Amino acid sequence: MDAGLKRELEAKVYAGERLTREDGVALYESDDLTWLGRLAHHKRTELNGDRVMFNVNRHLNLTNVCSASCAYCSFQRKPGEKDAYTMRIDEAVRKAKEMEDEQLTELHIVNGLHPTLPWRYYPKVLRELKAALPNVKLKCFTATEVQWFEKISGLSADEILDELMDAGLESLTGGGAEIFDWEVRQHIVDHACHWEDWSRIHALAHSKGMKTPATMLYGHIEEPRHRVDHVLRLRELQDETGGFAVFIPLRYQHDFVDSADGKIRNRIQARTTMASPAESLKTFAVSRLLFDNVPHVKNFWVMHGLSVAQLSLNFGVDDLDGSVVEYKITHDADSYGTPNTMHRDDLLHLIWDAGFQPVERDTRYNVVREYDKAPSLAERRAEPQQVWA
Ligand code: SF4
Repeated sequence: MDAGLKRELEAKVYAGERLTREDGVALYESDDLTWLGRLAHHKRTELNGDRVMFNVNRHLNLTNVCSASCAYCSFQRKPGEKDAYTMRIDEAVRKAKEMEDEQLTELHIVNGLHPTLPWRYYPKVLRELKAALPNVKLKCFTATEVQWFEKISGLSADEILDELMDAGLESLTGGGAEIFDWEVRQHIVDHACHWEDWSRIHALAHSKGMKTPATMLYGHIEEPRHRVDHVLRLRELQDETGGFAVFIPLRYQHDFVDSADGKIRNRIQARTTMASPAESLKTFAVSRLLFDNVPHVKNFWVMHGLSVAQLSLNFGVDDLDGSVVEYKITHDADSYGTPNTMHRDDLLHLIWDAGFQPVERDTRYNVVREYDKAPSLAERRAEPQQVWA
């Protein structure tokens, strides 16, 4: 990038001017990672100071049986496959209650599009979970699943959301977004929920008072311009509804040979790599700069590892999800050494060690507890140091 354009972009960021599509593409073309980090950190600090939010949650996948076969997905199974599963309602409740001791505040539930499970199952699960864990907020279902419920129930998304909210639904999840541009989407997504339906369902949720997350799956066959387009669509919708609480860039993951059947399910694996840590940090930074009207940018650390999670806090990220157990959709088997579980204390130390103040939040980003500011380097050196992968 030439020095003139760099100065121009920098001036726009420091003046708080909205960046354009061309600006976004130009930022991705820059190899000056520290410069990008500095700009994103300026924006992040303006919005969130030196606070890093986190929540203590549990991820549950009620079924891995799915009617779709998205090209990148290693989670889905077809009915009758050896390791296909669907939880009974009491089983889901038992699993959720296993983390009760951790003062869990949120359950995050996403599932395959099960071909025969009746619609009634879903509000029933929510009611039972809410009865068993009344203080836990239920963040459940992607827009893709809501569109699936429309198909299997004959109800409208409006009626579905009303019933799910009555059963205890606090928020939708942000999944199913992947990359909205059809040029890419047609090659990776196999279900019927695209930008028109995804945005319709989130806008409807916002009109009912929900705050929802939005995601983007990056690092596969898309180009930076598709990431820019993805964020700009969301930014425009956010101008209308103001209902997105957080943006979550999700790093596309390679699959590993499934020990149960020797298969690799990811069908684009042979022609893709995974985004490098530098590419991930750039994606966080550019997303923070472009998506100027979303309050938070989250790193779902399971997909990045803990070192990149810490670094990303200087590249626009101010939110870490969470205390995760059994994350399966893209993380069925990982030989990178990324843990599946982080407890509250682990997260606190991770955030302090990076020099930020941890703030525990709930699903709606209300503050549950503010912790001390990061201790000084001298204080930290006086303590035995935790070693992060
Ligand atoms: S990504 Fe979701 S909808 Fe697509 S195959 Fe996997 S579980 Fe099914």
